[in-house]
Amino acid sequence: MKCRHCNTELTLPFLDLGSAPPSNAYLSATTLNAPEAWYPLRVLACSHCWLVQTEDHAGREALFTEDYAYFSSFSSSWLAHAKAYVGDMVQRFKLGAQSHVVEVAANDGYLLQYVQQAGIPCLGVEPTASTAAAAREKGLAIDERFFGVALGRELAAAGQSADLTAANNVLAHVPDINDFVGGFTALLKPQGVATFEFPHLMRMVQSCQFDTAYHEHYSYLSLTAVQRIFEANGLKVFDVQELSTHGGSLRVFAQRADTGGQAVTPAVQQVLAAEVAAGMLTTNFYSQFDLQPKRIARELLSFLIKMAEEDGRVAAYGAAAKGNTLCNFAGVRPHLLPYVVDRNPAKQGKFMPGSRIPIVDEAHLRAHRPSHVLILPWNLKDEVMAQLDYIREWGGRFVTAVPRLEILP
Ligand SMILES: [Zn+2]
Repeated sequence: MKCRHCNTELTLPFLDLGSAPPSNAYLSATTLNAPEAWYPLRVLACSHCWLVQTEDHAGREALFTEDYAYFSSFSSSWLAHAKAYVGDMVQRFKLGAQSHVVEVAANDGYLLQYVQQAGIPCLGVEPTASTAAAAREKGLAIDERFFGVALGRELAAAGQSADLTAANNVLAHVPDINDFVGGFTALLKPQGVATFEFPHLMRMVQSCQFDTAYHEHYSYLSLTAVQRIFEANGLKVFDVQELSTHGGSLRVFAQRADTGGQAVTPAVQQVLAAEVAAGMLTTNFYSQFDLQPKRIARELLSFLIKMAEEDGRVAAYGAAAKGNTLCNFAGVRPHLLPYVVDRNPAKQGKFMPGSRIPIVDEAHLRAHRPSHVLILPWNLKDEVMAQLDYIREWGGRFVTAVPRLEILP
């Protein structure tokens, strides 16, 4: 396979999780009786441009289904993050009623609702029908197509050029990263600003976050690789912020390389230097990572087996993609983990892909009084612990498995 950015033959292994079903292919009581498709889940690094990317395999097109079940608005901390972002951008770039904001991967309008409330004209691009419908219910205009150079040009020609574009947690999800990035160059006004948020590969490796790997993630990104990809597609990075979201993310600010007027901040060089210091320009950084998932899987299985032998009552919280990667790689099944609680009604009554663990509503926790609740989306640990604090009434404890198995105080 060749690099999706620079076309170099990929020979540097990063992560081999065997095979897994698509992480959002939740099963119903009916589909539980049918076979499931599992696809290879291997990730390689490009030793030329350092873009880390999921290996191609047969059946890729089957991965994205219409009833995509991830609705951003179900996380209250993510909503607060979006609201703060809008406030910051309005102030920094002096946005107002004369401005135009475009969000790519607008999901259910979790972010644009705050742009709309600030009285700023905006447009969302969101190809998933179910989340686009939820955004429209908030009164937002949504273009229900995949983004790239063609759509960026079309929107610009239709008078939709942007003073600000937002693209949160989507850069890693696009197969053709060059075409996607080029779309922003086409869509921005001459002085427009494009922001992108994505999990930082450096943090992923440092914190052993192998469970953020799943089929729908095409890329794992460093600033080193992003800067190179942006430059090749007409964008110039001028600022970067390190965020705590998703276990450590970057928010990259870019402008058109031909017309942008923003000065480059020292933060860009600082993050690039931190990546060099972490070893991200050496092959060892990438080839050593694959040891971590095996250790984490052993620790989790040991804990669950001990619980089963001691008559402990273990439950999990958060039927997210991360949890699917972890349970499937570690080989966790309902005899070790009988159910997962999730707040999203669209997931309740369904089953985790692969592991086939039932997904239930929160009432089950009070009814079954588990001794331990394994928090699968560790990035939302504080929020989940506050929400489920009542398990302490019966002596319940919280557990996380990444970066190491930990029974929390
Ligand atoms: Zn490359």
